Amino acid sequence: MSAGIPPIKGFLETSFIDWPGKLCAILFVGGCNFRCPFCHNHPLVLAPEGMETIPFAEIMSRLAARKNWLAGICISGGEPTLSPGLPQMIARFKAEGWAIKLDTNGTRPEVLAQLLGDNLLDMVAMDVKTVLEQEKYARCAGGAVDLGAIRESIDLLRESGIPHEFRMTIAPSLHTEEDIVAWTQQFDRSRSRLTLQNFNPRTTLDVRYEKEPGFAPEIFSRLSALIA
Ligand code: SF4
Repeated sequence: MSAGIPPIKGFLETSFIDWPGKLCAILFVGGCNFRCPFCHNHPLVLAPEGMETIPFAEIMSRLAARKNWLAGICISGGEPTLSPGLPQMIARFKAEGWAIKLDTNGTRPEVLAQLLGDNLLDMVAMDVKTVLEQEKYARCAGGAVDLGAIRESIDLLRESGIPHEFRMTIAPSLHTEEDIVAWTQQFDRSRSRLTLQNFNPRTTLDVRYEKEPGFAPEIFSRLSALIA
């Protein structure tokens, strides 16, 4: 592993779904400061040290072989902003001419501000787990949350001038329809893209959620129309 580069625990050479409108590669950085009960990436969250680290040189070489038809790299997790070497890693990609999308839970606004200030990001997707109320947010994130940091990250992205989206995974046991309506209303859709994802009870961090259904398709369609 190169010095300062975060341990990369997963890598997909092509994804059609992780960067709206673009074909991208996606890499996964281990570790997260949330414990969202519906999380599907929980090995990355709970035990990243038990996962193999993909050498950075291998990642660079596999990317270089696909440079002509990939539009960029999505950096996901886990929560990538927890890794001290994230700016250095992105700078290495940028030096090779790659566009970068970052997935984040918004808990490290100081890192986001640094990355934006250094022009290291081309797109950001931030999970905003629910309305900004402590009790509701803590249930969705699996523990206490600094809502001030979440607000700060939202404001940074709103003012950033780069493409960004706020997205929320919705589950009937965590989100009322009123919550979802209120969530959509806190954003200016002329400046920020919004995305709702229906909860999928598949290999969840909290196994009790594997018995929970998502919203019925007709209800999810109606809720999705709020942000259409
Ligand atoms: S869903 Fe929650 S626990 Fe899982 S990686 Fe994202 S922020 Fe972390």
